[in-house]
Amino acid sequence: MRRFFQFFGFVILAFVLFLVSSDTYPELMTVPEPEPVSTPSPTPVISVDDNIYHAIIQYGTPEIIKHNNRPVYAYIRYPQGGNATDEVISNWAHTLYKDIMADFQAIQQTDDSAIGEINVHFDSYLVDNRYAGIFQEGKYSLTLDPLIPVGEVVKTFNIDLANNTFLDSTDILDYSMSDSVLEILRDRMMAEHPETERYLAFIDASWLNLLVISNDGIIVILDKNRVLPEMFDTLTVILPYEDLGDALLIRREAPLTPVPSPTPTPDNSETDDPDQDDPDPDPDQDEPDDSEPSVPPQSGSIDPSKPMIALTFDDGPGIYTDEFLDLFEKYGVRVTFCVLGNLVNTQEEALARAVSLNHEVIGHSWDHKNLAKLSAEAVEKQISDTFNIIEDVTGTDVKLFRPPYGAVSDTMRDAARELGFSMVYWTVDPEDWNTRDSETVKHAVINGTVDGSIILSHEIYKSTLAAYEGIIPELLQRGFQFVTISELLKHKFGDLDPGEVYPMIR
Ligand code: ZN
Repeated sequence: MRRFFQFFGFVILAFVLFLVSSDTYPELMTVPEPEPVSTPSPTPVISVDDNIYHAIIQYGTPEIIKHNNRPVYAYIRYPQGGNATDEVISNWAHTLYKDIMADFQAIQQTDDSAIGEINVHFDSYLVDNRYAGIFQEGKYSLTLDPLIPVGEVVKTFNIDLANNTFLDSTDILDYSMSDSVLEILRDRMMAEHPETERYLAFIDASWLNLLVISNDGIIVILDKNRVLPEMFDTLTVILPYEDLGDALLIRREAPLTPVPSPTPTPDNSETDDPDQDDPDPDPDQDEPDDSEPSVPPQSGSIDPSKPMIALTFDDGPGIYTDEFLDLFEKYGVRVTFCVLGNLVNTQEEALARAVSLNHEVIGHSWDHKNLAKLSAEAVEKQISDTFNIIEDVTGTDVKLFRPPYGAVSDTMRDAARELGFSMVYWTVDPEDWNTRDSETVKHAVINGTVDGSIILSHEIYKSTLAAYEGIIPELLQRGFQFVTISELLKHKFGDLDPGEVYPMIR
């Protein structure tokens, strides 16, 4: 019975998401009944566990909806570009979160041990400085019950930046010419996803419902369970601009100049300086912090007889990483960044700078999934892909990682042991992701910190940066030394055991 209610809830939620995700597109047309599958079945083409996904962030800065505590682990990333379309995108993300949370709470009425997870990312493209395309993709699960299907989240936004309006699919493609477009789509499917061949007989204009403008062409998204049978994961195909001819309704004018900044900071979204043609404005230029430190900076060497603490910053790198580095440099303190592998390529310079300033950079998974739910193989891939990209970008090779949500399974311990990695937890959690209030965070950290504390924060919030502007001088004044997580653990535990979680939490 309980399972029935869970499934029923899922069906309702799937319907709600269907409504949410179909609002900016032409009405969905009839989906062809797929033929029965003969063996051998094609393997899914996109599997998040098997493919390395690097975030493409050409438009907007990432904003995160997060829930870091049981019973739902949520990580929803969406872009904000500093213009009038932001609100719609933000509302979509918050509605998604609220709907899934509400459905989860209904399940909890009958199963209070249920743990849910939402994991949503985006890619964003800037085309001709005139258009932005955003592709949101992710999954959610409401319980660990394998009989309850995993939910799919797919959503696209296409923005005409010159006019601050959204484009519908019908503004992008001329559907009266869909026959010729479908011919291109069929050819591209055969080239990129030949295992779909037997289903291409059913191709029709409904396959063109979900589009994203990208640099090379229009990305067609065939989201799971919509046009292809269930065994296929979400597939994407690019229709090159040069092939589309008159069917393409956009991108017929010269690129816009001056260039709208692709990475406006959320705080100065109002400014629209026509002289500003630096595509990557340095946040320091806005508010140079050349003020003197309010207490003497920390000296270079560690005094083992004095109390030591480790600041750890998760979920980056992000647009504030450089400003955090300025603050740490001012006070001579060293910290540890626990980064997401799929964001490393978006802030390579900041991470290289962090290592050059003797901070530590370790992994926090590839894409912020709850690793405790994954297979050994998938966990090993999460750990080593993240390790490898950190090593590529910074040259460091510290075999430590911070598990997302602090969730640890025996499978994770075994996988980490196999790869020679230890895991690191935390002892002070100011919940900066939750309050986003610098005073609250500041008091929680200052009041909670003792010798040996490992403090968890997130470098992706301006409020957290403001909190640390007060925290660091205060804790220095109280005689704490700021060291990296490796230094702290080495001091307290000596050599670390692979597969172990520190401080021990068994
Ligand atoms: Zn995290």
